[in-house]
Amino acid sequence: MSDERLKLVKESFEKKAVPADIPAMKTSEYFGELVFDRKKMIKYLDSKTLSCFLDSIDRGVVLDRKTADGIALGMKEWALEHHVTHITHWFQPLTEGTAEKHDSLIEYDGKGGVIEKFDGSSLIQQEPDASSFPNGGIRATFEARGYTAWDPTCPVFIMGDTLCIPSVFISYTGEALDYKTPLKKALKALSDAATPICRLFDPDVNKVYSYLGWEQEYFLVDESLYAARPDLMITGRTLMGHASSKNQQLDDHYFAAIPSRVTAFMQDLEVAGSRLGIPIKTRHNEVAPNQFELAPIYGEANLSNDQNQIVMNLMKKIARKHGFVVLFHEKPFDGVNGSGKHNNWSMGTDTGTMLLAPGKDPKGNLQFVTFFVNVLAAVQKHNALLKASIASATNAHRLGANEAPPAIVSAFLGKTMTGVLRKLLELPSDTPIEIAGKKGQSVGLVEIPEIFVDNTDRNRTSPFAFTGNRFEFRAVGSSANCAGVLTALSAAVTESLVAFKKEVDSKMASGAPMNIAIMDTLKPMIASVIDTVCFEGNGYSDEWKEEAVKRGLDTETNVPKMFKAFISPQSVETFVNTGVFSLKELQARNEVKWETYTKKVQIEARVMGRMAINHIIPAALRYKTELLKELSLNKEVFGSLDDCKFELDALKLISARIDEIQSRVRDMKDNRKKANAIEDEYEKALAYHEIAENLASIRKPIDKLEEIVDNSLWPLPKYRELLFIS
Ligand code: ADP
Ligand code: MG
Repeated sequence: MSDERLKLVKESFEKKAVPADIPAMKTSEYFGELVFDRKKMIKYLDSKTLSCFLDSIDRGVVLDRKTADGIALGMKEWALEHHVTHITHWFQPLTEGTAEKHDSLIEYDGKGGVIEKFDGSSLIQQEPDASSFPNGGIRATFEARGYTAWDPTCPVFIMGDTLCIPSVFISYTGEALDYKTPLKKALKALSDAATPICRLFDPDVNKVYSYLGWEQEYFLVDESLYAARPDLMITGRTLMGHASSKNQQLDDHYFAAIPSRVTAFMQDLEVAGSRLGIPIKTRHNEVAPNQFELAPIYGEANLSNDQNQIVMNLMKKIARKHGFVVLFHEKPFDGVNGSGKHNNWSMGTDTGTMLLAPGKDPKGNLQFVTFFVNVLAAVQKHNALLKASIASATNAHRLGANEAPPAIVSAFLGKTMTGVLRKLLELPSDTPIEIAGKKGQSVGLVEIPEIFVDNTDRNRTSPFAFTGNRFEFRAVGSSANCAGVLTALSAAVTESLVAFKKEVDSKMASGAPMNIAIMDTLKPMIASVIDTVCFEGNGYSDEWKEEAVKRGLDTETNVPKMFKAFISPQSVETFVNTGVFSLKELQARNEVKWETYTKKVQIEARVMGRMAINHIIPAALRYKTELLKELSLNKEVFGSLDDCKFELDALKLISARIDEIQSRVRDMKDNRKKANAIEDEYEKALAYHEIAENLASIRKPIDKLEEIVDNSLWPLPKYRELLFIS
């Protein structure tokens, strides 16, 4: 095995970049060619169908069957030009991935042959088996019906030979079984709550959009080395492995020159993304070795989230062309940074005003402060819920660890905005609000032009940071579906805006001018958030954990317990009142969350146990045998073991570690048996949480053995071999 291992390492080191397929055109010439976007609508739809379709997308007008038939006809014509043979409803079940069931376009033509057929009804709905997807008990196996229904606000796209129709997924009884349905409900609720407030400032506003710009972090590992690591293959992370002598301590990977094999992968990904209308903008090396990031230009939240899911799928496929496997796990390697997916989030009106950016004048600033403070109030009230919405078995390895956001949700505002809020508290309510913009700053060299310095600094330790025109939710995990966190955030902000508007209305009804009614409503909110959820210091420090408790923020670190926040009376009220989730849906989803947590830990525990017993202990025993042989030779030749201190010490250590591993694996198995007997999903997840915490105690002696055992006998690629792409 180990000769094999060294062969794999050498091969991976010597692999040359596979050139990317880059079209001999400008990106703008093929951007969106595989998307049925507005350009295609105009070309392939008749004018009546087109106008009904646009009404549906832009104004939420119900789409009738006749229009759907017309749209399907146009789509079919376009799809056949691209040699499409199949269609699928493409949806996002609660599995942290996407689902697709392909149906061919062929139908009998009644004359002994077949024709390609695609009509409104197959565009609008399909029926996958809902009991085979996580549903939290909403669907039993004997009542299997579930429906996918087309989401006309996200464009249909072509992947290979298949026309993909972005869809929601609901049960026979109408409950959401996916990420998209509640996200859409929450975005609509937010728009409905925000629009009347915007109209106080601009009567032309009819809709408020939410925007998402995600930054996807990921690792690439060579596929041959990956295949030699059962833990990576099965769980997505290394369950064992001694730290490499060099990892990220020299800060030499972040923003460094991108290895050519990786560049080729990124280029292929960008071309595929562009064809699908995904504006991938940024690519760079991240902090940990083999860690990278990409980010698109932000877009409408529902679409941008679809695009994130598409990109993750593309990455998995394209990585293989380049001999890599992409890892989305939040913590594939201990001791180096994990991966997140920053969610840059903002709101804007259909008239083009960004609501989380300072305005051009005091009135614009008042509108900005209104939304800014309402967001903070929502984050304060629902900090436990927001944390629950980013919690998972995998993200648990990142939250609270020292390089990632802490397991406490607070907001970072920066000096400028903290100053603005504090000043507003002191000044009379009708004082015009001034906010300093970017400042010019000289670099101190005549040949370098003046640069503009932002009015907010950054705080990498904050999970929810204001960055000048948006909030950046940094605690989201790299494998997550962004819809989870956006749904919770949007519902929380909706609730805050509704209460705010009610109070402003009542003040105005009593004769207060608008600006005073708004400011008088905002002031107690500002006073409340500024010293609770707003925190400018080091989020990684122990003092913050103590301070956060005093401020009444949630500091729970146990993931199954965190999930409880979804069904607290406060969250249920928010979700039900905003129409985002029913109580039944919330309960079902929590069952799924606990079950998923349990299963993930269960799989890790099994893999850990088997690798410890089948891979690690046999390797250690082999080395032990060699040492024993060596000792007996010594005895034979020299008549004593006087010069065998190393061998004797090593033997003792190896035997002790083997004992330790064996007894801990046995304990872990016993604990699993006990946990498996628990019926209640929550209690079971709690029991598995204990098991998860104890996996490290098995890992420790294994990693120690890695330090002692003859390198040529070690059965697994080591960190130093996995982590450095040439
Ligand atoms: P970093 O925070 O690492 O500097 P970037 O500057 O690359 O990251 O941008 C992060 C993401 O934020 C990008 O996807 C970008 O399009 C997005 N973004 C920028 N402005 C907004 C906004 N107003 N709303 C939502 N996302 C935005
Ligand atoms: Mg960022």
